Amino acid sequence: MRMRKKKNLEPRLAQCADYLLPEQDCWSTLALLMAGRPLYLEIGCGKGRFVTTLAAAHPECFYLAVEREKNVLLLAMERARAAGLSNLRFLSCDAARLVDLLPQSSVSRIYLNFSDPWPPKRQAKRRLTHRNFLAIYEQLLPVGGEVHFKTDNRGLFEFSLGEISATRDFLLKNITLDLHASGLDNVMTEYEERFSSQGLPIYRLEAEKLAVSGTPTTEFTNPSL
Ligand code: SAH
Repeated sequence: MRMRKKKNLEPRLAQCADYLLPEQDCWSTLALLMAGRPLYLEIGCGKGRFVTTLAAAHPECFYLAVEREKNVLLLAMERARAAGLSNLRFLSCDAARLVDLLPQSSVSRIYLNFSDPWPPKRQAKRRLTHRNFLAIYEQLLPVGGEVHFKTDNRGLFEFSLGEISATRDFLLKNITLDLHASGLDNVMTEYEERFSSQGLPIYRLEAEKLAVSGTPTTEFTNPSL
């Protein structure tokens, strides 16, 4: 999400400082705040509508939202602060850093919403569902932990299905090519509101981390086989 530089960015960020986790000692700070609650991570939270809605609805969980664009992160943090949410914090960094900041198996679920598609093939490595990023998620999640991904971009969705299948570390489930017609529970994001109001279908998938590469934790039986 690109945005014009916000006026008074630094003083406004300073007002939300309580919501911003330092990179140094990130995990020790977070672990204290979580107080035993499961950690849910959103990568690329944009203006924060999704994660603030979830955090308000689920005080029994703790939310961490990562966004590398400070001008957008500011709006998300101001929203969290206005709502007085105590179970949500933010990190201002690139997703690639997460593997250095959080311990293995520390995250119960990862949300990727309307991630940048980076259409040219030569930029595929920047896509948040590229296998290099999946390897990071595989480290962060325990067995049974999940990635939830939604997008309006069919090309990115198909790429993501291919990448997730190729790693063999995840079981794909609850795949839909039209989220809003599927009856699945859903919390809208800013981008989703915009794209669905243009009549575009929203694609969504879940990927569950497997116990052993290629082995589902729950047995899958196909009655027609
Ligand atoms: N999730 C929001 C915003 C989608 S736009 C919504 O659905 O409305 C994608 C966002 O991801 C942008 O704000 C961009 O800055 C952020 N982003 C993209 N790549 C990232 C990365 N590698 N690390 C952290 N944030 C990233």
